[in-house]
Amino acid sequence: MIPPPQQPLWWETFDPAETIGPPLERDLDVDVAIVGAGYTGLWTAHYLLERDPRLRIAVVERAHVGFGASGRNGGWAFAGFAAELDRIEADSDLSTGRRFAAVLRNGIAEIGDVLDRYRIDADYQPTDGIEFLRNEGQLARAVAEVETSRRYGWREEDLRLVGPEEAATIARAADALGAIVSGHNAAVHPAKLVRGLARSLVARGVQLHEATPAVGIIPGRIDTPGGRIRATRIVRATEAYTAELPGLRRLLVPLYSLMVATAPLPQELWDEIGLAHRELFADYRHLLVYGQRTADGRIAFGGRGAPYRYSSAIRPDGSFPDDAFAPVHAALVDIFPQLRDVPITHRWSGVLGVTRRWYPAAVFDRVTGMAWAGGYVGSGIVATNLAGRTLADLLTGASSELTSFPWVRRRVRRWEPEPLRWLGINAALRLMRSADRVEQRTGRPARRAEWMWKLVD
Ligand SMILES: Cc1cc2nc3c(=O)[nH]c(=O)nc-3n(C[C@H](O)[C@H](O)[C@H](O)COP(=O)(O)OP(=O)(O)OC[C@H]3O[C@@H](n4cnc5c(N)ncnc54)[C@H](O)[C@@H]3O)c2cc1C
Repeated sequence: MIPPPQQPLWWETFDPAETIGPPLERDLDVDVAIVGAGYTGLWTAHYLLERDPRLRIAVVERAHVGFGASGRNGGWAFAGFAAELDRIEADSDLSTGRRFAAVLRNGIAEIGDVLDRYRIDADYQPTDGIEFLRNEGQLARAVAEVETSRRYGWREEDLRLVGPEEAATIARAADALGAIVSGHNAAVHPAKLVRGLARSLVARGVQLHEATPAVGIIPGRIDTPGGRIRATRIVRATEAYTAELPGLRRLLVPLYSLMVATAPLPQELWDEIGLAHRELFADYRHLLVYGQRTADGRIAFGGRGAPYRYSSAIRPDGSFPDDAFAPVHAALVDIFPQLRDVPITHRWSGVLGVTRRWYPAAVFDRVTGMAWAGGYVGSGIVATNLAGRTLADLLTGASSELTSFPWVRRRVRRWEPEPLRWLGINAALRLMRSADRVEQRTGRPARRAEWMWKLVD
């Protein structure tokens, strides 16, 4: 059988050649200039306009809106953050950890409100998330996580452990000893979200230029092949691609996540599987997997673990050898053996950004007027929205609860030079994979995964 081309399922809803904003072909003078038309750049533009509708804002995008992770992700919008809440608390205090958790929980409703208000169709559906616990090791870690979450204000109705029978009423996964069920999630179509947001911003006066690479970014100025943009405030919203910018190779490491999508499933198969309310699903392995039932009745499913490339290199066209997708497909069939014979129609990759501390950052330097946010790893849909609100406050000089959270920083620790980075990151990925095997074999939480988090901080 000929393997399907490596293009995101989500891109079928638009033609990447169809422009939302023309390439820049003149010089511009604006108040705020933003590099990158993914969620971070666009949410920042959105909240800047909410704070002050008179602001003149330009966004430049090297490829097209949604070319990056924002147009490729799993569409699992959830109240998570790459740095766990105990690390937020360690960097601040318990009350801040609790307030931060509440802001994350409210993030789903916030996104839903904006979509409603601006009539953006993103197949948005508030729903539950279900993480199946498929061995005793996963179960033990889940019990501990739910206990910890109570410390940060997650109540039973927000996050709860359920037994195998109740889990099966949501979805029938193989070997489920139980599940964690969480509220505060939404299934979204990631590309419709990013492109709908971009169109609404253009309608509100934002100057958006696709096919416009920023080739120089310095305080007060962005250079592009077609023109120069002057702005007192500049936002770099380039996430994993930051590694390609001069002098920034060690700020954010690009890691790949790979995704597959099935053909639309017949109703009989949905009746067998469940997920009747488009619940988002995963199991509780260390090397994360994530899936959603799409609005058109498929399963889109992804997983991490593709190796880090030496010197933070990014594959220009994002394509992987065909066999790289086999473990992702195998993980999906392992969770839902009912899908064994269902064809995979789409496979694609996306690249996400990781800081040295595995801790996202929102950064603003008042003196130079330069800002950036990123390092969300695979928890970016809600975090980018929070970044947009936070950067908008920082850039407009508002002092708010958001600007007091500990991910707001002046400086971020850099990664080690090569070959240490390559050795360390790939060793960590192997460690996660072996921790999953140990838990499967022994039924006990794998201590080696805890070591990794100790090394990160
Ligand atoms: C496969 C995958 C699955 C994921 N699944 C989920 C999920 O289910 N839930 C979740 O919460 N998060 C998920 N994430 C993470 C989430 O998608 C990201 O955190 C989020 O999209 C980051 O948005 P961003 O705008 O910061 O970056 P991006 O969307 O990557 O945008 C950066 C943009 O900058 C542009 N750019 C780069 N350099 C330049 C330049 N020099 N000049 C102009 N433009 C430039 C790029 O072309 C790109 O469009 C996933 C990520 C991936 C890769």
